Amino acid sequence: MAIISLGSMAFDAIETPFGKVDKIVGGSGTYVAYAASHLAQPIQQISIVGNDFPEEEMRELKKRGVQLNGVEIVPDQKSFFWSGKYHLDMNSRDTLITDLNVLANFNPKVPEEYQGAEYLMLGNLMPTLQLSVIEQLRTRPKLIVLDTMNYWMETALEDLKKVLLKVDVLMINDSEARQLSNEYSIVKCAKKILQMGPEYLIIKKGEHGALLFHKEHVFFAPALPLDEVFDPTGAGDAFAGGFIGHMAHTQNTSFENMKTGIILGSVMASFCVEKFGPQRLKEITRKDLDLRLSEFVQLSNFDISLV
Ligand code: AMP
Repeated sequence: MAIISLGSMAFDAIETPFGKVDKIVGGSGTYVAYAASHLAQPIQQISIVGNDFPEEEMRELKKRGVQLNGVEIVPDQKSFFWSGKYHLDMNSRDTLITDLNVLANFNPKVPEEYQGAEYLMLGNLMPTLQLSVIEQLRTRPKLIVLDTMNYWMETALEDLKKVLLKVDVLMINDSEARQLSNEYSIVKCAKKILQMGPEYLIIKKGEHGALLFHKEHVFFAPALPLDEVFDPTGAGDAFAGGFIGHMAHTQNTSFENMKTGIILGSVMASFCVEKFGPQRLKEITRKDLDLRLSEFVQLSNFDISLV
């Protein structure tokens, strides 16, 4: 049940109404790996870092069954750096700095040992890189999941459309769905996007949960109402990790099982936002996961009949 995960491994500087950190480990691939590793292993990571990425973080990932043969280390350059500032509502943020550094010349190579993996998580990166990983795999994985963002819709739409033709599940947020489809109604967005290639579409709506679309079917997973959201960075990637981790663990790619997958995605996202960076994803135990899962069940489980 190996999962190949392509994504950035980075340093982030984050400012929220609750505090500020100047340089902590982040990156879409890092969040996916920590979240997915609670549910399935190995995670076969494909990424690139500079000479500054902490050895300790690499050890931490390895301990959790994350294989790093596909992570290139460039000795004389810096890791990708991203900086963002959240607005008061914590739902929106401004990107302040994007220093590509090593990412500027990234040419991902799938190691021989990764061939044959049945699950592929294409984290948010340039669409050409996502396509290159798909094309290097000699056997098509059972499930290919794609995450992307508005930036690629603005700068690389044609490449993105080529990748869309090759994936099973697309994961985006509601504003990105509107941008990609040129529609406002989420249902109309879904109909249009499902004609662009993916058979399944997950639309994330932050604190308002996530929707899963497939043909004429729709399923909704709530987000857990939390007392405090400390740092939303990486929540989308943690969601992706929880989803693909569940799919790989259960070896079942049906729509029914994807419903549980998006609940596990929401569980991972709910932990992720409780502390700065991926810290909380490192701390949680099986017991924490079980408890939170039952909170999700309680949240939307009701018995009803007309009287
Ligand atoms: P999320 O909050 O789920 O959108 O993910 C935030 C993470 O994505 C941060 O840790 C950043 O390092 C990383 N990130 C931000 N912009 C990019 C980008 N253009 N390409 C790759 N990773 C990015």
